[in-house]
Formats: sequence, C-alpha cells, structure tokens
Amino acid sequence: MAIRTLVTLPDSKLRLVSEPVGPVTDEVRTLATDMLETMYDAPGIGLAAIQVGVPKRLVVVDLAKKDEERRPLVLLDPEVTWTSDETRIHEEGCLSIPDYYEEVERADRIRYRYRTLEGEMVEAETDGILATCLQHEIDHLNGVMFIDYLSRLKRSRVIKKFEKAARREAEDA
Ligand code: ZN
Repeated sequence: MAIRTLVTLPDSKLRLVSEPVGPVTDEVRTLATDMLETMYDAPGIGLAAIQVGVPKRLVVVDLAKKDEERRPLVLLDPEVTWTSDETRIHEEGCLSIPDYYEEVERADRIRYRYRTLEGEMVEAETDGILATCLQHEIDHLNGVMFIDYLSRLKRSRVIKKFEKAARREAEDA
C-alpha cells in the first residue's frame, strides 16, 4: 500500500478522458488499494484514478464519517445510466482543487452501473450525497471537473489562482 501523489489544478492530465480498466490484474488491485489509502490520508470521500495520474476508469468512494467504520466502494468502469429531473444543490470540493468549495446543482437521483474488483456487474440507484459524489467522480473519468459547472468568472478566478501558485512553486524550486 502506498499513498500516491495527487494531481492538482492546473495539471492538464485532469482533462484526459480515461480508458476502460480492462482485466482486473494485480496492478489494478494495487491501484485501487493505493487510491483508497490516498483518499483516507487526504482526507476525502471520493477519488478517480486520473487524480493520481492514472487515466483508467476507476473510482473509489467512502462516505463513512470519521467515527464510523470504513465502507470502501471500488467502482470499475462506472457509468450513470439514468438521472432524475429533480436536482439538488450541494457544496462540493475536490482533492485536485484543494481548499476550494462551491455549490453545484446536479441530478438528485441516479441509476448507475459498475464492475467490482471481483468481476461482478452491479446496477443500483441512489440519491443524496452518494449521487452527488458519484456524478462528481464519474465526471473526472471524462476530464470534467466541478468548476466546469460554475460561472465563467468564478471558474477563471480559481484556475488563475492555482496557475499562480504553480508558477510560484516552480520559481522556488
Ligand atoms: Zn474531484
């Protein structure tokens, strides 16, 4: 197990469209375990593989609170197959955009499908925070980030802030 380095804004990798996972090899299992460790360490409630620099359609999620037992969910090739017309506004953050939070409107209820590490196909329906979280993570697999739903002004402001920080870091190095 290892904690991997998080890819953050403005890294252009975050805009890549990830590839299907393919067969579940040891490499895939290690990636999933490392992603969970990285997410717990951050801490966060969801992470897509591209956020540790791997363009594969793999997502990990755990909505358990600090004092609860962990409930890790590993989703291979997850897809949203249906969304409700009703929407819900939730404040979102992202491990690739540290310390930035904004309200985003998304479908309140979704149906989704994914493959488990054991090769099982799962179809399920959910709402609330899990629905928000899954939509956010599946977006990452398509190179989409939650700031894409904000106004152009807000988005360019946050991107500029992170570009400036990256430049400063490069100068100090
Ligand atoms: Zn994110």
